[in-house]
Amino acid sequence: MEPILELRDVSLSYHTLAGETPVLSHISFSLLPGEFLAIVGPSGCGKSTLLNLIAGLLAPEAGSILMEGKPVHTGDPRVGYMLQKDHLLEWRSVYRNVLLGLEVRRMKTPENLARVEEMLKAYGLDKFRDARPSQLSGGMRQRAALIRTLALRPALLLLDEPFSALDYQTRLTVIDDIGKILRNAHKPAILVTHDISEAISMADRVLVLSSRPAVVKKIIPIELEIEDRTPLSSRNAPNFKTYFHQIWKELNPNA
Ligand code: ADP
Repeated sequence: MEPILELRDVSLSYHTLAGETPVLSHISFSLLPGEFLAIVGPSGCGKSTLLNLIAGLLAPEAGSILMEGKPVHTGDPRVGYMLQKDHLLEWRSVYRNVLLGLEVRRMKTPENLARVEEMLKAYGLDKFRDARPSQLSGGMRQRAALIRTLALRPALLLLDEPFSALDYQTRLTVIDDIGKILRNAHKPAILVTHDISEAISMADRVLVLSSRPAVVKKIIPIELEIEDRTPLSSRNAPNFKTYFHQIWKELNPNA
């Protein structure tokens, strides 16, 4: 199977008045169609920088990033990006928020609008289409942000700590919710998180970055001993803890 995304020897430093900060060093990995990869690493090691590179918002200093065999570019429509803040606009209704991306990219075709309708119904937001974002729960807001992103039919979804602003209980439900949606859609995704359990519960593989300048320390395939795996049920798998300890050790070699 051809990878949807391939990073080869990607390196990047930030250059500021204070000098040069090497952030990423010779990062290589690939992502297969439909695969879910979680990236964990110490705070400040370069995780968001890596996603910004994949989104085409930054250019690598060395190495290459290929999506479907072609280099990514600024504003690449093949990439959907979900951030910690959902960036829903309070002065727009939920419906007009989920249409925002399609409007900006002039993609409001009947086909795309019909798909938005389907998603609003499937994800339980249909009744809230005229509500303002502040009237939604944290989980519903994330679902609205997800519909807005998926409406653009990205080939790859990037998730930068999208759940970290939610309280613990809500986070578990929302992760389960969003995880199931993405799996059913067979959408390849890369999740950046500082939460090891979140990474294991959602991902097919977990990529562990070292501290800055980050190198790939390990890529760990997650094979949980559980049927009908969902992010929530994953946590009950007998070998969940084994993966947790393995990743914890990679992140804290001296602990
Ligand atoms: P993470 O997401 O792993 O917390 P980041 O990718 O946000 O890490 O940042 C990696 C490092 O690069 C940090 O030390 C941060 O201070 C620095 N950094 C991030 N953005 C910039 C920038 N635009 N200019 C200079 N340094 C930056």
